[in-house]
Amino acid sequence: MTLQLLATTRAIRPVVELIPPLSDEFVVYGGADTIERARRWALDNRYLLVGGVPPCAHGLYLMSCPAGGACMDRGWADHINLWISIYDRPTPFLLSAPYGYEAPSEADLRRTREFHQYAKAHGLCVDVDYDRDDWYGRGTLPIRLTVRNQSVVWPLEELAAILLATQPVGWSDEDPAA
Ligand SMILES: [Zn+2]
Repeated sequence: MTLQLLATTRAIRPVVELIPPLSDEFVVYGGADTIERARRWALDNRYLLVGGVPPCAHGLYLMSCPAGGACMDRGWADHINLWISIYDRPTPFLLSAPYGYEAPSEADLRRTREFHQYAKAHGLCVDVDYDRDDWYGRGTLPIRLTVRNQSVVWPLEELAAILLATQPVGWSDEDPAA
């Protein structure tokens, strides 16, 4: 009975990995040049790549995606990854880089676009900033969906805080913790 309970819990809560930019396991979709741009961006901003959970809102809950990944089978979610900023407190965000999207107009900002609808459904904030997040490049539009800075602590935030308190992250080639 106990074993069954453990197995069920494992299926609901996958093993989360926080991957530093200098790790060999730091891989995003694209060629070596794309990965290197992502690595530099993550290093400069103190971002960790999140693995082990799906890069969709369900990953923020430490869940497998009930839609089997179809949750992110949307045009605006192309090249999406889940990240954690550790600059202040651990703050997770999803970042996609779809082709064929223009920077948001005023109408977009009134939440008429589909990524706004997805964000609203999950209580996330939409942020589009070429200058900050355009490491994928090639004319794509970087779309960031961030957990709101509020009193609610998301399960991934809580877990990241524990992991970071117990396991140091290295941020340079000279740092032995890298
Ligand atoms: Zn999902």
